[in-house]
Amino acid sequence: ALTAAGVRDWLQRFATAVDEHAGELTDLDRPIGDSDHGVNLQRGTHAVLAALDAADPATPGAALVKAGSTLVSTVGGASGPLFGTLLRRTGKALGDADPVDAAALAAGLRAGLDAVTALGGAQVGEATLVDALAPAVEALEAGGSAQEAAGAAERGAASTDDLVARKGRASYLGERGIGHRDPGAVSIALLFAALAGSTA
Ligand code: ADP
Ligand code: MG
Ligand code: MG
Repeated sequence: ALTAAGVRDWLQRFATAVDEHAGELTDLDRPIGDSDHGVNLQRGTHAVLAALDAADPATPGAALVKAGSTLVSTVGGASGPLFGTLLRRTGKALGDADPVDAAALAAGLRAGLDAVTALGGAQVGEATLVDALAPAVEALEAGGSAQEAAGAAERGAASTDDLVARKGRASYLGERGIGHRDPGAVSIALLFAALAGSTA
């Protein structure tokens, strides 16, 4: 079950993973974008940890709302509003529940996913972070572990190799984007791997 401290641990692990993979994320963003995805997420995740330390939210929902709002306000790229909306809307859906059980977390992340697709307009198969996020949420809804959700997200990220991007900067490339993995989808896989690490 997830507590406010558990959310802090989850996002701390995500920040560490983003630091470790920043170069790789930026390299993925080079051929299909503007080479800033790793730096964007590093700025955002470090601001999130500082904001959580300052606000010390009492519930997991409040912690995720704070984290999401911080990402929206500190990351200029597309990924800030998208990751931020994911966390903020997930947090709102959790309400005052404390701790949050696996079924409530799955339902919360479903609300977050729906908000991301409403904001960005991307569905599965358009080579965005939705290709990793949707299967991860589905895995949790089916009763899978965070580890299984992380595996689903990783496979979803790998599936973007063969897709033509229809949304975001990568869509400017059209067919030339085939053969490139979407950086945002790889980051979503890191987010679920961090969740698996924190609840293990
Ligand atoms: P920017 O493209 O503004 O430089 P980033 O490089 O930080 O922002 O993030 C790019 C990632 O954002 C992409 O790899 C993709 O996963 C995601 N993305 C961009 N546009 C959309 C969208 N409309 N819907 C879902 N995800 C998107
Ligand atoms: Mg970019
Ligand atoms: Mg950019």
